[in-house]
Amino acid sequence: MRYSALELLKQGLSGNKAWPRLWRSPAPKPAYDALIIGGGGHGLATAYYLARNHGMTNVAVLEKGYLGSGNIGRNTTIVRANYLLPGNSEFYSHSLKLWEGMETDLNFNAMHSQRGIINLFHSDGQRDAFARRGNAMINQGDDAILLDREGVRREVPYLDFDQTRYPIYGGLWHKRGGTARHDAVAWGYARGADQRGVDLIQNCEVTGFLIENGAVQGVQTTRGEIRAPKVGMVVAGRSGQVAEMAGFRLPIESHILQAFVTEGLKPCIDQVITYGMGHFYISQSDKGGLVFGGDLDFYASYAQRGNLPMAEHVVEAGMTLMPMIGKAKMLRSWGGIMDMTPDGSPIIDHSPVQGLYVNAGWCYGGFKAVPASGWCMAHLMATDTVHEIARRYRLDRFRTGHLIDEEATGSQHNLH
Ligand SMILES: Cc1cc2nc3c(=O)[nH]c(=O)nc-3n(C[C@H](O)[C@H](O)[C@H](O)COP(=O)(O)OP(=O)(O)OC[C@H]3O[C@@H](n4cnc5c(N)ncnc54)[C@H](O)[C@@H]3O)c2cc1C
Repeated sequence: MRYSALELLKQGLSGNKAWPRLWRSPAPKPAYDALIIGGGGHGLATAYYLARNHGMTNVAVLEKGYLGSGNIGRNTTIVRANYLLPGNSEFYSHSLKLWEGMETDLNFNAMHSQRGIINLFHSDGQRDAFARRGNAMINQGDDAILLDREGVRREVPYLDFDQTRYPIYGGLWHKRGGTARHDAVAWGYARGADQRGVDLIQNCEVTGFLIENGAVQGVQTTRGEIRAPKVGMVVAGRSGQVAEMAGFRLPIESHILQAFVTEGLKPCIDQVITYGMGHFYISQSDKGGLVFGGDLDFYASYAQRGNLPMAEHVVEAGMTLMPMIGKAKMLRSWGGIMDMTPDGSPIIDHSPVQGLYVNAGWCYGGFKAVPASGWCMAHLMATDTVHEIARRYRLDRFRTGHLIDEEATGSQHNLH
């Protein structure tokens, strides 16, 4: 079914009883041309672009839980292309362009909202850094406006401009940035892949690999053995564990990132705002909840929940920037497992096992990357060559030292 205003009217008039399921629920076949491990945003986008761009439809996505149960349904939904370094800059620029056409392409409402992002700065040094970043964004063909203090006040007058400890000097405004409904992105790609013949297999955990003479032949799963000459590993926070099953080690540590949402409020925060002097960023969801987060919990873990010290730290930072949010009641918090690389940038590359491809290391910024990551991963799996815009996301950069360290924090996973 194609979604349209007319279809909405027709279905509404007939009691909304004939909407079809978004995707089938097939039993796994014994063999496919390609397998994708992980039914998160990146895995589903890879499946979709394999079918759409490369005509590969004898493909299955193997998901150990339900589609969208991982980070794709846990993030704070920010979409942006405000990177500084070559490698990231062109990749995220491409991703944002794909976002801008995604809903039409998928015929699915992902509630992509280009409401703008303002990154605040609080010192002369930070202003210089943001001016440089803004210039890089403009050179890449994206948008950036450097606001002074009064410019920020015009846009977001409710911030605490009087605090003397960390005064607001200005902000970098990225108008094409914004938010999207995270799980709808997974559902849209899932539906698009399924419509093109991809099998989406839920409750199917990969427990081992079939490897002969250094080449992958398929996988062992909780639903039996499934063979394929090409396998994409797209498991985000579980990347280290799944790579270990295939006999190699990835330069990844898994850490927890938490997020928080308040009760629904009337519209009060139009943009996404990030604090330059504390671990805090915020936006308002279309349901009205204030959605905010901060930094990692700082210890490695596979738990999908965080701890109170970081919750307290984030809320304190929020209160110093925006005291008005103290009146809102917090509704819930949750956590997701972040696949942190030593330089904070991802990997889309061959693995040491022939036919097994790695897509990992998205840290806490992989939601916005979903379209471009799927695009490049599909290219890699279909053609066995790295896509031009992902050429710097090589696995061997951690051996050769060609890191893409956007935050210049050095090789320590939990500082990115
Ligand atoms: C709190 C929080 C806030 C965030 N905020 C943002 C943000 O604002 N903007 C942004 O760009 N990014 C953000 N991120 C990061 C972003 O969500 C992730 O980088 C991205 O979703 C990871 O890729 P994915 O969607 O494919 O991961 P996932 O959805 O985690 O997909 C991986 C899938 O693999 C499955 N899997 C694992 N092991 C196996 C196995 N053995 N067999 C079968 N399946 C397996 C898992 O069940 C999971 O469904 C945030 C993350 C969190 C947790």
